[in-house]
Amino acid sequence: MSIRKLPALLVNQIAAGEVIERPASVVKELMENSIDAGARQIRVTIETGGIELINVADDGSGMQPEDLPLAIAPHATSKIEVANDLEAIATLGFRGEALASIASVSRMTIVSRAREHDSASMINVEGSNESVVEPVAGPVGTTIRVRNLFFNTPARRKFMRTPPTEAGHVREVASSIALSHPDVAVVLEHDGRVVFDLPGGQSAKQRALAILGTELSPELLELNAESDGVRLWGMIGRPGIARATSRHIMMFVNGRRINDRTIHHALKEAYRGLIEPNRHPTAVLFIVVDPAAVDVNVHPTKAEVRFRHQAQVHGLIHSGVRTRLREADLAPAVQFAGGSELKLQSAPWQPPQEFGTGRGSGASDGGERKSAQSFVDYFRQLDPKQKGFVYTEVKSALEKEPEIAPLVQQQNDSNSGGGFAESDELPRVQQAARVLQVHSSFIVTQDEQGLVIIDQHALHERVMFERLKQRVEQGPLQSQRLLMPAVVRAGRAQVEALATLQPMLGKLGIEAEPMGPESVAVHAFTTLLFERKVDPVQFMSALLDEAGDNKFADDPEAALHEVLDMMACKAAIKAGDRLTDEELGELIRFRETVERSSNCPHGRPTSLRLSIRDLEKQFGRT
Ligand code: ADP
Ligand code: MG
Repeated sequence: MSIRKLPALLVNQIAAGEVIERPASVVKELMENSIDAGARQIRVTIETGGIELINVADDGSGMQPEDLPLAIAPHATSKIEVANDLEAIATLGFRGEALASIASVSRMTIVSRAREHDSASMINVEGSNESVVEPVAGPVGTTIRVRNLFFNTPARRKFMRTPPTEAGHVREVASSIALSHPDVAVVLEHDGRVVFDLPGGQSAKQRALAILGTELSPELLELNAESDGVRLWGMIGRPGIARATSRHIMMFVNGRRINDRTIHHALKEAYRGLIEPNRHPTAVLFIVVDPAAVDVNVHPTKAEVRFRHQAQVHGLIHSGVRTRLREADLAPAVQFAGGSELKLQSAPWQPPQEFGTGRGSGASDGGERKSAQSFVDYFRQLDPKQKGFVYTEVKSALEKEPEIAPLVQQQNDSNSGGGFAESDELPRVQQAARVLQVHSSFIVTQDEQGLVIIDQHALHERVMFERLKQRVEQGPLQSQRLLMPAVVRAGRAQVEALATLQPMLGKLGIEAEPMGPESVAVHAFTTLLFERKVDPVQFMSALLDEAGDNKFADDPEAALHEVLDMMACKAAIKAGDRLTDEELGELIRFRETVERSSNCPHGRPTSLRLSIRDLEKQFGRT
């Protein structure tokens, strides 16, 4: 075997293999170049998920005509000159290989004009063929157009997913660059539709909210910390908006989006005890360190970094986040709209005589139900404003019942089918915690701090999620065959996605196969979902929709949790469902046994608390 030097095109294509994985990688490199060129505005336009076209236009410094061929030559960069520069990199790019790599696997056109030039210049590259540089009309700045990505490397082209999936990755990349550069205006368009349009000159907070969603604003806490020259700024989510995947954790070091295990670990530690171990907080963390104290040259796409003072960074994140969480009141409180406007009776509200306090009476007998009913009647005739904070006096005997059976026992009871298990203990629990169902939607009870109002759907959803999760760990969920297959109509992308879902469907006890290009036949369905009256067709079409849009996490376990989330939501009791005493009792017990059950899997609160202090204030006792 003789040793040969590889042709330049092949060298670049091999390099591209490391950096350019999919359209999103191209968008990342081009946007970073625009930022490095001092752009104030970046417009990203893609077609067909970026597979057919990616166009990134900026108003940055532009390039001289003679620099265009150099820009696409490998290892050509304007950003570092000597090895010493590698020690303190302040720009996003520096390897000088991105444009060369992209050009080797696509059809690329660069139009660029430096400020001091009257006209722009253009160069076309296709594989190893490079055009001469020609003058063209164009504004100051650079526009790079990339068409037919991987047209000459069919193996790579096959690895691309559906256009919506690729568009999702592009969005992820573009929004994380936008997050760390709030001063730069960023527009993303896909197939002629504006995905986002962020104005320039935003503050870091405005930008973070614009990207995370302004509706999340009450759930986010702002973070500011510093130690020994390392600065930390960020927004962290209340434990309530914890998710099944870590996709909502974004970290930046000196403006560069990275993924760092030290930081993940510090964050996880800070939330310990506040969210369940397998869930992940929402967090956007910006760390600013001396560029010389961090090595960004350890990963081809610079997604990982190495800190010189690892322990210091860990300490800052851990204590910064922990302190902020400790300061915040994490139990969602009842919000009084317009405080004193609430028209209260002059004396603190007393339960009407016939309702009574029920002290000492058998809890799950007919008498209790009657008094619950009379409460409901009483409640119905109240002024709507008063309904918001009506409560009943209940005995908090839960504290006297520490031996309450753990949830796990219920879960092993395979006959319970995930609904409310019948068990000798339930009436006792019901007796212990007096609870009321209000308008078949909310449950009212108390804890040591005051009155607790529970959203029955949200809490039950949480119960179902935990159950499903534990069951699925023990083996495939119990399944039931359909007499006739249920036919689900779906788009082609959805039907194609079925194949990738199969291993998961097996675990869930669902048997389904394509039936022609646009429908899927369901042959067997999860028993538990049947029992909770979930329609197989509706459930499967929701599942296929999500899968077709590639909404599920790449990690199989995280994806499984996302599907269990969906199952739990569909199977949970709804607002308006009347509950038996046993059902009420079990819900309350769940809340007590599983601490941190204060949020449903989607992160909406499952309960609100009205503390005794608030009540006293509202009744004018203080
Ligand atoms: P790197 O960013 O690592 O230097 P690239 O291959 O991404 O390598 O880019 C090569 C060179 O092309 C850059 O160093 C820069 O001088 C020039 N360049 C690329 N994109 C732009 C742009 N949008 N505006 C101005 N100059 C650019
Ligand atoms: Mg670059």
